Formats: sequence, structure tokens, C-alpha cells
Amino acid sequence: MPPRHIVLVFIDGLRPDALVEAVRADEAPHFQALLGEGENRGWLTSVLAPAPSITFASQASLVTGAHPNRHDVPGNQFFDRFGMHHGGKARHYAFDVGDTLEVDDAVEVFTRGLAGRCLGARTLYERAASRGQHAVVVGHMYANGADRWLPPKVEMLARLTKAPGPLKITPADFDRHVLALALDELRTHGLPNILTVYFMGLDAYSHAHGPDGQRVYVRETLDALVGELRSAVEALASKAYPPFWVLAADHGQRAVPADDDHAVPLRAMEPLFAAEGRDLLDYPGEGRHSDAVMAFNGSMALVYVRRQGETWAQPPDFHNEVLPLARRFWQAHRRGAAAPALEGAVAAVLVRDAAHAGWRSSYVALTPEGELETLEAWFHRLPTDDAVEALPRLAGMASPLAGDVVVLLSPGSKRYFGHPVRGLHGGLSAEVSEAALMLAWPGVTPAVWQQARQQFVHAVEVRCQTEGGRRPQTADVLVGLEAVMLA
Ligand SMILES: [Zn+2]
Repeated sequence: MPPRHIVLVFIDGLRPDALVEAVRADEAPHFQALLGEGENRGWLTSVLAPAPSITFASQASLVTGAHPNRHDVPGNQFFDRFGMHHGGKARHYAFDVGDTLEVDDAVEVFTRGLAGRCLGARTLYERAASRGQHAVVVGHMYANGADRWLPPKVEMLARLTKAPGPLKITPADFDRHVLALALDELRTHGLPNILTVYFMGLDAYSHAHGPDGQRVYVRETLDALVGELRSAVEALASKAYPPFWVLAADHGQRAVPADDDHAVPLRAMEPLFAAEGRDLLDYPGEGRHSDAVMAFNGSMALVYVRRQGETWAQPPDFHNEVLPLARRFWQAHRRGAAAPALEGAVAAVLVRDAAHAGWRSSYVALTPEGELETLEAWFHRLPTDDAVEALPRLAGMASPLAGDVVVLLSPGSKRYFGHPVRGLHGGLSAEVSEAALMLAWPGVTPAVWQQARQQFVHAVEVRCQTEGGRRPQTADVLVGLEAVMLA
């Protein structure tokens, strides 16, 4: 019998090794209790984030089961050259909390459902609603189709990210605020068929303290939150129908130096574009007056090029516009030309010819010598851990919303796009791509649990096989979950 209730706990940025270490060291008793004795009612595993391994792209994959080229959110930052959700006017989105934003998209995500309005694929809530199931979403950025959406209070978001001094709250305070919203909802409205609770504090903590802090955060904060949530859920669930739990992260993180020698700001990129006669968009919003956009996503940047004298909807000329700009990234890598911050830091420059191959075409690699070669040939040269499953993940990124050029920085250089942090994600390397996943079904017999787990694993395996034998990704979690829900 399929579960009547699903509890989805999205834990932003949680590395699988941090969770496994905390559980095995008896530092996370509530996670352990969910997993059962000897983990006989649960499973700790991991999945890969999409490319780039960044929050809004991967969270969208978690809730839609689609790759970014189908759910239409290819990053925390991206440029919609067609203005699909903006009255036909090109628009740069920056959902992450930036420090130079004129228009604060990060707030509109929660006040106006900005990220949800960009989704081009149906969410699990919309799919479940068509089967008569009710869903409540607490704290998360995507809630399309849910009966009730409880976003975090914007004041709390501002106090987490922008407030100085005594007004500032910690990531743990923020997660406790989200838990309080969830508990209040449960008290008032009971337990829905699907309850999603989103804890973003661990990612913020890990950005500030480095990924070594993740285990500390699990031990000191997250474990208790999960325990409180479980008590509240179980008080409302009938003993005959125990809820099925999914605890899923969207990506991992890796340690980087938090200084200006390693963090590459947008202004450091302007001379490179100027050398090509281009005006780089330097604030989010409409891109009418500039002719190039760079969307930062950790160690990956999506670069959009406007055809000279045309609107953004026209594809740029590959040989005269895309390639000359792309070559400049390798020149910067080799000699620091026009962008000293990139010297020795570039791992890949990918290009595509949308004018001839279309807006869904995939990328080829531009070599430092100016040759074009297949992604397979290029990524074969890189250390395995620097680019995990690059081919299927880049294929899942290629869409009208992805860049004409993609620039990937090497993990070894420890450089990254954006402002200084101690923990980073956004890219293709193993550490930033592996995301924790935990399934648990406490309260059922081991046989029932085993059957559910097999249904989940089988559905995921079938999908991975049909997509070239790739590894499971965050987009597959919903595929596995629906196999359990519809069994
Ligand atoms: Zn995230």
C-alpha cells in the first residue's frame, strides 16, 4: 500500500559525507531514529546536482523531476533573452542573494513567487493535485500547485542576509523560523498528503564557515529541527498510515579562500568584454542597453551575447561574435589579458552555434589553441573529480535560457565568481555536485520498507538507463518518489 503522507525535507547544500559522518558518529539521533535500528527502515545515499550545481536549478529539478533545459531555471542567475515571463522584454534574473543588486529578485522569490513563475515544468504538487492529493509548502521557493504556501517572512530573510549588528539572525534562527511556520501550519490545518519543509540554513552556514562546518550544523541545529518536525507529524498521522520521509539536498559545497584574490566580481570581467567592444550588463534587470550578460553561478558563468544591432531574441553570429569573445577567456587564463582575475583559473570554455543549430543545441569545447572539439574529448582531459558526469549534465542544461558561452573555473585554482565565501558550490566538481539523499519510512515493517525502496531504486535506474546510463541526479528523486506514491 502506498504511503498516504509524504514529508519532504529539503536541506540546502548538505554534503552526503557530512550527513553520513554525523549519523555514524551518533551525532544525529533524530536522523538515526528515522532510519531505524541498523538503518532497517531507511537509506542514506547521494545524487548529483544538475549543471551548474546550484540552488534554484537543483531545487527546481527536485520538485519537477525535470532537467534545467525543461524546467527553465538554469541557475541562480540566468538571462532570459526572450523575456518569456517578462512581457517579451529580455531580463536578467538573480534569485540568489547578491550584494550589488538593484532589483532584489531574492525577495521577490518569496513575496511574489518570482522563481515559481519561471518554472516551465509541472511540480509534484500540481501532479498530486490532479490525483486529489493536498500539499503544503513551507519555506521553499517553488510551490506551484500546492494548496498552501508559507514562504519565510521577508524580514527574516533580510535579517539573515543583509542586516548589520544586533538585527542579524543566524542560519539556525532562520531554520527555526521555518520550522515554527511548519508546526503552526500542522496545528492549524493538520497533516497534508505532501508536506515540504525547506531548511536553507546549512548552506548559509557552510558558505560562511566552510563545508567542515556542515557536520557541526547537523549536530547542533538540524538534528533537533528534524526531531521536532517528526514529533509534530507523527502526533497527527494515523498509526496505520505512517508518513514516508524524503530528506534531500540540492548540491554540496567545497572549501575556498574567502578573499578578494579568489572571489571574482562582475566588475573584474568588464574589461574583457570591453576589449571585444561589448558593454557588459552590470546590474540585473532589463538588458536592452547592454549587449552582453554574464550570469554567475559559483565556478560556472553563463555568458549571453547579443547580435550587434539586433534584439536579444536574435542568435549571435558564431564566428564573428561568439568565438572571438570566447577566445578572450583563454587569453585571460594564459596571460591575465583583460581579466587578471582569471589567470590560470579557467578549466573549460564551451560554445554553441545557436544561429545554425538552434536554441536547444548542446555545447562544444573551445581549446586554448582556438580549436573546437567535442565535450567528450575535452572533459576526458580533466581530472575525474573536477567534472563529474559533465556530458549528461551539460546536455540537461542546454536550452534557450542557457548562455552562448559557458566558462568553467578549475577547482584547483580555488577561484570563483561572486563575493568572498568560505564554502562554494556551482560547477561540476565532485564536492559541489554530490548531494545528500535520505529516504525513511519509520513505522512500517522492514518488508514494506524494502519494497518501497526497491520501487524507488528501480524507477530511478530505468530513467538513468533511458538517458544514456548516467548516474542518478536530483531530477530523479521525484521519479523514484512517484513510483512509491503510485505503487
Ligand atoms: Zn542550495
